[in-house]
Amino acid sequence: MSQQNKMSLNTQQPDDKGYFGEYGGAVLPPDLAKIMNEITDSYNEIKKDDAFIKELTMLQQTYTGRPSPIYHAKRLSSALGGAQIYLKREDLNHTGAHKINHCLGEVLLAKKMGKKKVIAETGAGQHGVALATAAALVGLECDIYMGEVDVAKQAPNVRRMQVLGAKVVSVTRGTKTLKDAVDAAFEAYLEDPVTTLYAIGSVVGPHPFPMMVRDFQSVVGREAREQFLAANGTLPDKVIACVGGGSNAIGIFSGFLDDEDVQIIGVEPGGRSSAPGDHAATMTYGKKGTIHGFECYLLQDEKGDPLPVYSIASGLDYPGVGPQHCYLHDIKRVEYVKATDREALVAFYDLSRLEGIIPALESSHALAHAIRIAPALNPEQKLLINLSGRGDKDMDYVLEHYPLEEYEQQRLLFQ
Ligand SMILES: *Cc1c(COP(=O)(O)O)cnc(C)c1O
Repeated sequence: MSQQNKMSLNTQQPDDKGYFGEYGGAVLPPDLAKIMNEITDSYNEIKKDDAFIKELTMLQQTYTGRPSPIYHAKRLSSALGGAQIYLKREDLNHTGAHKINHCLGEVLLAKKMGKKKVIAETGAGQHGVALATAAALVGLECDIYMGEVDVAKQAPNVRRMQVLGAKVVSVTRGTKTLKDAVDAAFEAYLEDPVTTLYAIGSVVGPHPFPMMVRDFQSVVGREAREQFLAANGTLPDKVIACVGGGSNAIGIFSGFLDDEDVQIIGVEPGGRSSAPGDHAATMTYGKKGTIHGFECYLLQDEKGDPLPVYSIASGLDYPGVGPQHCYLHDIKRVEYVKATDREALVAFYDLSRLEGIIPALESSHALAHAIRIAPALNPEQKLLINLSGRGDKDMDYVLEHYPLEEYEQQRLLFQ
């Protein structure tokens, strides 16, 4: 087959029902399906509109601070004594993570569709803060649904959203956490879908969100490929990212999926054990099911209901995963592995100590896998890690759960 005839995985489109292979779709009651169709139509129009692309690009540059650099972590690489480690610095974006990339796209779409308000759920508050930021930027109202338990746990992010002008709605039903917040936000959305846009926080949910959020995040992969080639004259041997819903991962992967020689690895949260409820390693332990309006690998009980999930990184604890990832898993283009809480914590300190970069606990999972495999690889090998966010938000939690003294005693390698 000639190169032109081959389907590009970098820009793969779902079929007209929103499926990547057998995953995705819009499994919804008719009233919601109709709303999703309208969003799909508007997005398909807007994504070809020069004015929209120009505005988004301008904001990426002047507001977010794109392009984010690629940094060669030389001290970390030499301490590991093997492959060279490079970081795509999404932690340097305004608001400190990759989520602003799709939030900007979503609020611009909401504006163009004539919406007055964006709404979303948030767990730890990261998506809520990014969306509240983007909403303030373009002058949209913003309601963020958050479980009462999370509101108490994540006080700094709640205050941040309030300062930015968002309304934080505390959800008191059920377990008062993320799943209940999703349910409450969807109900609110159904009450007023005409003036509101539900801005989903990852490459999950019904079509068109997995495609649309992927498109907005793909700037990371396009930049990374170009920057890496320009700096090194070659592509990386491996590209590695953490996978919660999968948005930062698909963003960087989509720059390299067509490059057959580049090995691509997604890292899921292995949590504290392999027992159900102790991890969120969806691809490793899940099977096909339905959640939040789409089909994907799912951690589920015998009835098909989502199982409780856990990770030290609250941005990773989701029982499903983006449909395109499920497809890439099945065709074996991307390998999915896991890293435990403990491995992520070690990686968190390693990068801080050796490079002066404090990574988000989510991103630390991707780093942990690189740290695991680098020593056995030769120094010519190049690993590119998506550093999806910064770790300031995780400081208190880390110090409490893995005290510095313990790290310093155990990690003699780096003293
Ligand atoms: C939310 C978050 C993630 C997980 O979300 P994905 O959609 O899987 O990327 C990863 N890293 C950081 C820093 C986050 O805030």
